Amino acid sequence: MPVTDQGGNPRLQTSLGSLLDRSGDTSGSHTLMKHMSMVPYAHQLSESRMSGRSGDTGKNKKRRKKRNPVTANLAGTRYEVVREMVEKNGFHVSRDDDPNSFLLWFDSFVSTEKISELKVFQRINHFPGMGEITRKDSLARNMAKMCKLHPDEYNFVPKTWILPADYSVLQNYAKDLKAKKKHRTFIVKPSTGAQGHGISLYKNAEKIPQSEHFIVQEYLDKPYLLDGYKFDLRIYVLMTSCDPLRIFLFNDGLVRLSTEKYIPPHDSNIDSLFMHLTNYSLNKHSENYEKDQNEDTGSKRTIRYLNEYLRKEDKDVAWLWKNISDVIIKTLIVAEPHILHAYRMCRPGQQAGSDSVCFEILGFDIFLDRKLKPWLLEINRSPSFGTDEALDYRIKSGLLEDTLRLLNVKASDKRKNLAAQKAESQKRLFQQPSRKSDIMDLSDLEKKKLSTERRKEELKGLLSRIRKDATREDFENRNCGRFRRIFPPDDKFHADKFTNLLTSAFSTFLSGKATTLTKEIERTYNNKLKIPSLVGTDLTEADILDMLAQCEADEKEGRIMPQSRQRGPAPLMGMPYSVPVEETEGTDTHESEEDEEGEDTDSGTHLQGRSRPVSGALQNGRTGSRPVSGRPTSGHQSRPPTQQKSPGTATRARSLSRPQSASNRLPNGIPVLEESVYSTAARDMEEDLTRKSLSLLNDMKIKFPGKTDEEAEWILDKIQENWKFHKPRIASYWLVKLDSIKRRKVIDIVRSNVRAVLQRTWKCPDVESLRLYRIFNRVFNRLLWSHGQGLWNCFGQSGNSWETIFSKSSDSISSTEMNCCRRIVQLCRDCLLIVYQFASDAKNLAQQSSSLNEETGSTKASPRALSSLEKRTQTWSPNQTVSQRVSRLYPHRMDSTQS
Ligand code: ADP
Repeated sequence: MPVTDQGGNPRLQTSLGSLLDRSGDTSGSHTLMKHMSMVPYAHQLSESRMSGRSGDTGKNKKRRKKRNPVTANLAGTRYEVVREMVEKNGFHVSRDDDPNSFLLWFDSFVSTEKISELKVFQRINHFPGMGEITRKDSLARNMAKMCKLHPDEYNFVPKTWILPADYSVLQNYAKDLKAKKKHRTFIVKPSTGAQGHGISLYKNAEKIPQSEHFIVQEYLDKPYLLDGYKFDLRIYVLMTSCDPLRIFLFNDGLVRLSTEKYIPPHDSNIDSLFMHLTNYSLNKHSENYEKDQNEDTGSKRTIRYLNEYLRKEDKDVAWLWKNISDVIIKTLIVAEPHILHAYRMCRPGQQAGSDSVCFEILGFDIFLDRKLKPWLLEINRSPSFGTDEALDYRIKSGLLEDTLRLLNVKASDKRKNLAAQKAESQKRLFQQPSRKSDIMDLSDLEKKKLSTERRKEELKGLLSRIRKDATREDFENRNCGRFRRIFPPDDKFHADKFTNLLTSAFSTFLSGKATTLTKEIERTYNNKLKIPSLVGTDLTEADILDMLAQCEADEKEGRIMPQSRQRGPAPLMGMPYSVPVEETEGTDTHESEEDEEGEDTDSGTHLQGRSRPVSGALQNGRTGSRPVSGRPTSGHQSRPPTQQKSPGTATRARSLSRPQSASNRLPNGIPVLEESVYSTAARDMEEDLTRKSLSLLNDMKIKFPGKTDEEAEWILDKIQENWKFHKPRIASYWLVKLDSIKRRKVIDIVRSNVRAVLQRTWKCPDVESLRLYRIFNRVFNRLLWSHGQGLWNCFGQSGNSWETIFSKSSDSISSTEMNCCRRIVQLCRDCLLIVYQFASDAKNLAQQSSSLNEETGSTKASPRALSSLEKRTQTWSPNQTVSQRVSRLYPHRMDSTQS
């Protein structure tokens, strides 16, 4: 990732930043940053100005602020001007090791893990996925793709070749030029370079070495000149959100001049970097470099000055800036699919349109040619905030100040968000999921009521989003300072144009990768969802209020009484041993969120023949299956099976049965005939393979990183022994702390092991086609059911309630298959316990390292202390006594119990 530094500072921040990211330990770095700071103008800010700006006059207000400060963690930045502006905007600079600050600022990029860990009220100054446009080679690759689709729109990047892959294409291009007697110069740059390092120019493309990690560009040899010097622009852009995209353009920036008068490239001057490159970090070493005594002569000038200059030259400045803003928007449209995808992966569950935890100030380097056409040279995700000169300080402090104001961080965000989070988890625990099978059972009146309720919910969601958007927009308009919002644009023409490009970018960059997201974006940006923050919609708040009123009127007309059905999972109190889950109607027929994602296509099978007990398995043409010992289901006899059938049930019910097509084969190659002539030999073979699978599953041990089988067993024993202690912790870890993606990941550990076993036994790479695997999938989905309640129930008295997914199905399963399922449930339970132990070990380690720091008075854990801690939690010896082992694993708890 390029980190330009026009302040000319050593590029230490990249390694420092990644170090901080990796260890999560930011302590001690601030002192280092302080020493590295270089702010001759920062100190000019007088004390009085500083205090005046806080606007904190009233005593009460002061006290309140002291108690509840809006904090900023600046351990990751070395720029003093950032600190100053943060304080000026009323933030309280927190300790370097405070991970819960409202604002986190890093000079280098941040890991996706860090972004995932942020609380909703926090803000960090980088987006994930931005590398797709800030690395020179990635930018070239992505731009080439868009240019292919929209050559007239994406014509602002010089022709680029990525080495070594495009070397022969480049040579052919050069040959063509030669044949046509055309002359071009090429500029060769390191893919991840910055500050002009490693750049060279070539008149003859044949001489360009075929090196790795370089790009070659056609050299733009007709620059617009200022006083005879070549220059480029550093333009500052703020992105406040990617979901949806919001972009602001700062109305000032830097004009960076070369220090030798420009002459078109020629053998005699091709090596003169002071003539052809405009980097400040390079040109400041030239004896011709002029510090800004006044704005119209220095080697660094402001964009305001350039605008004036151009006006005097009778140039159309408005047209120029319209083109520049187009370049910026189109570039960020290329980045958006990558960023949004990465952001959604980091922040699962965050609603579109809610406040973004990420924001980013980008430095766009733009070149103007003789005709004032802007060309994109590169984008910097960590533009320098060095303030070597007065104009640097003026521009950058203003940029930071306006950015911080636009972020609109308030102390109340924390309270509000925590409350919202709590309400959301409560809602999740008590919510009443519904599935198609339940809806089928409803009367027409109930169905109508349900659909009206859903419509109302949708409209309320839309209304709240419209209001939120309006408030946000109003805030932005009043507080954008020197920023101007350039996306979403205000006019319909541009809105349509960019929407087109956006949808095209999504299908180009995410094709086959995130189909759901691509479809959602297409719908959203094509305005079918009528999301008002996206321009062009004519749906207003009043329209939605009308629609809501209509819904309520419908409700009254239909005289729909509130529903009294008690559905849904038992709440948290319903954890094992406290409230057993009752087998009431519908208890296990709720579709899991995972089901809704469509993984288990079998989820509807139990619609058919719900009243049939499992022992009826033989009736389904399965002579080889023995009935399962499972109990008959209660509460399902009230309706005759025929009444419970629904259109389409028959086809869905087939999903667990053996393949119907004569062309199908069993995975081991045995041809599968029509169900009626299903060969006994094939059935026996299938039964045999199922038995083998069971035996392998019984012997299977999941390998956990850094843990032997014995250690894993031992952990399980310890948790069982101390179940009372662990139970609430595991419940809160599984049901509350983990989100659906993480819960699925835990189950996927078992799933992938099971797949491997099936692949081996059935000698079949495509296990998805196996009936046994589809059965397992139903179990996995059941365990993830209702936000994990499915697996959690397995720890309690109702531990085998999941089995009813089969007892209600018309398609019965054999006892061997059921035993396989029982084994995988056990594996999932064990897996959760071990993963939980991993998580609590990590937590203990972190706590101990911080308490060690406090003891030693150090803010940073010494490597020795850390490694001893690691040893304490990781080493395990069978010769140790149990208490020794426990004290190693849980030192805190043992200490407190002993005392
Ligand atoms: P770096 O990240 O090392 O600064 P840039 O791509 O920004 O690399 O290039 C450095 C300088 O080289 C630019 O500021 C510009 O003056 C010059 N330059 C880069 N590419 C071109 C080009 N295609 N045509 C003309 N000048 C270029």
